[in-house]
Amino acid sequence: MADVPSEAPEHCPGTQSENAGKASACAGCPNQSLCSSGATKQPDPGIALVKERLSSVRNKLLVLSGKGGVGKSTVTSLLSRCLAANNPDRNVGVLDIDICGPSQPRVLGVLGEQVHQSGSGWSPVYIEDNLSLMSIGFLLSSPSDAVIWRGPKKNGMIRQFLSEVDWGRLDYLILDTPPGTSDEHLSATSYLKGAGITGVIIVTTPPQVALLDVRKEIDFCRKVNIPILGVVENMSIFVCPKCKNTAEIFPASSGGARAMSNELNVEFLGSIPLDPLLARCCDEGKNFLTEMPDSPTVNALNEICKSIVRKCEEEKENCLNNSQ
Ligand code: SF4
Repeated sequence: MADVPSEAPEHCPGTQSENAGKASACAGCPNQSLCSSGATKQPDPGIALVKERLSSVRNKLLVLSGKGGVGKSTVTSLLSRCLAANNPDRNVGVLDIDICGPSQPRVLGVLGEQVHQSGSGWSPVYIEDNLSLMSIGFLLSSPSDAVIWRGPKKNGMIRQFLSEVDWGRLDYLILDTPPGTSDEHLSATSYLKGAGITGVIIVTTPPQVALLDVRKEIDFCRKVNIPILGVVENMSIFVCPKCKNTAEIFPASSGGARAMSNELNVEFLGSIPLDPLLARCCDEGKNFLTEMPDSPTVNALNEICKSIVRKCEEEKENCLNNSQ
């Protein structure tokens, strides 16, 4: 696909759609002659570049949430720290493609770090020996800078992130995506088509309103043929750090994520209890796993990570069996 400048109108039908260059939204668009010529419908060379770059990444995982505010970025950072800590012989990378709200540099404690570019690509920032991060947050001059980009420009940045970061050998690459199903998801899933997505981890909270959006997310994954590793329920209960009594913050009127997972035939990976010290650790970029090793939240994360490792192996096996 030829590169399309970023001035596409808001109601752009998509540069690879049948209506590209012909829809009413295309009138007056600076890309109209390019789109109507059919050049944008050619296979995107970015797909091959991404495949080549990620050939040394064993498992590519997408973290999705139907709704904002369910703690997806926090869960991504915790799972990546936990996977790296529990598997010291394996390398974990985090790619933050939440372009409009990149929070991984803060929660992983590397805010303000510089990304370096060499002949082999962008070097990610290392949090631990076996845990690295790339985020658009590193490219902004200030954490309060707003990123106001339309589809084609976001698309170009995601392609660059997927094809130009020099991760080295990785066992797990975890992509933190924005909430919902937006441009970023479509771009990431289409660029990763050639490289292969191992699976998706869906994060939700117990209330019905969040679960309704999870159903849409599951539908999206099934439509674009991406395996779902499972559902993680965040902020399931509150465990008092002093008396250890528990309370439901968000009552699960319909049985919560576990009942929904059973109904939709996806694996329920586990519940993460809310710990009041977790938000403080995230704000300060501290490692919650080492700060609060005895928290029920850490126990839950360890179990969820074990399930994710197992599910990744199962997916690899399925893939192998299907290709024979
Ligand atoms: S970028 Fe192409 S498809 Fe999108 S509005 Fe412009 S002319 Fe139409």
